[in-house]
Amino acid sequence: MSTSTATRRATIFGRVILTAQLRAVTGLRIGGATGTLAIGALDNPVVRDPLTNQPYIPGSALKGKLRSLSERIEGLVSNWRINNVYLHICLAQNGQNPNYHTCPVCPVFGVPGDQAPSAPTRLIVRDAFLIDESARELEALRLDLPYSEIKWEAAIDRVTSAATPRQVERVPAGARFACEMVYTIYEPEDFERFRIVARALQLLEDDYLGGYGSRGSGKVAFSDITLLAKPREQYDKPRETLPTRTFPSVDALLQQLDETVAWLTSTILVTTRDLA
Ligand SMILES: [Zn+2]
Repeated sequence: MSTSTATRRATIFGRVILTAQLRAVTGLRIGGATGTLAIGALDNPVVRDPLTNQPYIPGSALKGKLRSLSERIEGLVSNWRINNVYLHICLAQNGQNPNYHTCPVCPVFGVPGDQAPSAPTRLIVRDAFLIDESARELEALRLDLPYSEIKWEAAIDRVTSAATPRQVERVPAGARFACEMVYTIYEPEDFERFRIVARALQLLEDDYLGGYGSRGSGKVAFSDITLLAKPREQYDKPRETLPTRTFPSVDALLQQLDETVAWLTSTILVTTRDLA
């Protein structure tokens, strides 16, 4: 293989499709810019699908949280600002990026297009929509708003200590969303990097999604995790014929992570032809 960045290829060796159910263990306050997505006069709106009026979790919100938790457990320095969010990014210098390949975050979660030449992002996170059964359950609850509740909170002014009541819209505890993540194998190291994805799921379960996490909102749990392995050679086959593994929880996935990485490696085997 040429070492010139101008001729490097990004060949897909295979993909791992991870599906899971994400349950709101506590009420979920999903971020959205105040005003642009507001429902009525509420601030802090839940993001809604305009077609169904149902709340959903934007893939960008889910992926951003998985990334920032992964950065923090690795102790990486945040050196890149996107709006008001600071991220760690392996920055290219003179077209070279010596740190990228061993970085525990950037190959998986990606870097801006003008950095790290020929460095495709491994992880795609789809928007997560309410599963039908959960939507029907929420409809039966007669909530304050369609599929959501209003929680009153007292914001304390730090100077005057005066309490200002405010409304927060939350998806109620128990709501369940269908998650899909696609993890692409571009090189042999990507099998080991899959551990970073599994760990990030556990980091999120111990943290929170959306806003107001330090005040109780946003605890989530994954269940019914399925990994579908799609080697490149099998891309003309229907999904149901491809090998899968299922796990009831993130803990179960982590307990079997060594054998799962070995299974992915042998199923999506990178041949010497690919590496030539
Ligand atoms: Zn990095």
